[in-house]
Amino acid sequence: MKSYDVIVIGAGIIGTSIAWQIARRSTLKVAVLEKGTGPGEGSSGASSAICRYRYTLNEMVSLARDGIDAYQNWQQFTELKQPRASFNNDGVLWMPGDDPDWANKEHRRLNGLGIATEVLDNNELAERFPAINSCTIVPDLIHGEDHICQGHTGNLLEKDAGYVDPVSAVQDLLEACKKNNVDVLFNTQANEIQVRGNRIQGLGLDGGQRISTPLIINASGPWCRQLFRAAGLDINWNLQPVRIQVIYRDRPVELKGHIPVTIDMGSGIYFRTQNRGQQLLVSSVREEDEREEVSDPDSYVTEHDAEFEHRTLHLLHHRLPALPYRGKIRGNCGLYTVNLDDVHPLVGPSEIDGFWLANGFSGHGFKLAPAIGSMVAQAITGVKTSYDTEIPISFFSIERNPISIADKSVLA
Ligand SMILES: Cc1cc2nc3c(=O)[nH]c(=O)nc-3n(C[C@H](O)[C@H](O)[C@H](O)COP(=O)(O)OP(=O)(O)OC[C@H]3O[C@@H](n4cnc5c(N)ncnc54)[C@H](O)[C@@H]3O)c2cc1C
Repeated sequence: MKSYDVIVIGAGIIGTSIAWQIARRSTLKVAVLEKGTGPGEGSSGASSAICRYRYTLNEMVSLARDGIDAYQNWQQFTELKQPRASFNNDGVLWMPGDDPDWANKEHRRLNGLGIATEVLDNNELAERFPAINSCTIVPDLIHGEDHICQGHTGNLLEKDAGYVDPVSAVQDLLEACKKNNVDVLFNTQANEIQVRGNRIQGLGLDGGQRISTPLIINASGPWCRQLFRAAGLDINWNLQPVRIQVIYRDRPVELKGHIPVTIDMGSGIYFRTQNRGQQLLVSSVREEDEREEVSDPDSYVTEHDAEFEHRTLHLLHHRLPALPYRGKIRGNCGLYTVNLDDVHPLVGPSEIDGFWLANGFSGHGFKLAPAIGSMVAQAITGVKTSYDTEIPISFFSIERNPISIADKSVLA
């Protein structure tokens, strides 16, 4: 029977980050098991992979900063000569709707935490990003009434933020893992978790083989509840896979100038470019659009809805008025795993000795992944190294009381 010191279940961005962070600081024998045929088959492959700093809680800002730091220095972090992924430093523009104080307040707070931001008024916005309309009125989605665009507010620009291609990042981490003697096993599904006297003994695979290990890390994304059940773990938290829709359309020549990643808080959409600026990706930041529960992550509707397309594009046309009403629209859906109790993940040991969780990352998991890997690897190995986070693993403990937070959407 094969045996490992640590088995990570799931080769998404969280599982591969954890495995790499353990491998780069220890000689522990680690395996990553992935039921899919290749990288990025779960949430990570569908991710918009936006790396922004602003969160409500300062601890989350620090974790985002630590994660983004690794993505910005990806070659050094992964120790690969030619990594596939690179950081697209497009900047992230927050448009707060008609709240006149929000941008200045957040600018002061984030600067205090070491994040480079600036506040842009309407004129500065028009000069820097001519394609973007600064209007603070939310389009009327019920009656479709037109309005005269107006309003003045401060907008917040995170200068060092951006995005990464998510599948390339997972591929890089897998390569880095393999170079450091981590066994990466695709087409390998863990379906039985062996526990004796409340201690992990090992696991059983789909094909009937058994692997022995004292430590399993559940990084199975939207499938996490299946492994809780397999381990006989009954947690007091409601981790729910939900369907998330994303729309893509080509970027026409009419849209001039640089378009940063934009979070339109008033209207409830976000968008960014990709493919060297040639394509637009747009999705929602509304809590209502993050609550379509999916009972089986292996079977859900992956095409987008017509209603979502109409609403989202209507809001996008308001924000990018030069965008013509022509061009092919495509859509795709992926899964968030939302912790319905406090919208923050659960990371660390469970009440079963040797069964650890890294689950419930909603729309945050991509940017946080290097920092989550760091906090888990520090807790397991006791070793600190470069790109480590100072936020302790207890922050996301399964034992915590739910974090009190007003915004329960992806903007939490
Ligand atoms: C549409 C969308 C947009 C997003 N945008 C952003 C964003 O802009 N910024 C950001 O930071 N985050 C974003 N996220 C969130 C982020 O992508 C996720 O939080 C993150 O990818 C979760 O990674 P994971 O490794 O936990 O899960 P996954 O990527 O789902 O990986 C889990 C893996 O486990 C495997 N697995 C499951 N069960 C088993 C088993 N029993 N045995 C073996 N393997 C198993 C699965 O096949 C899967 O590959 C977005 C997510 C979506 C869906």
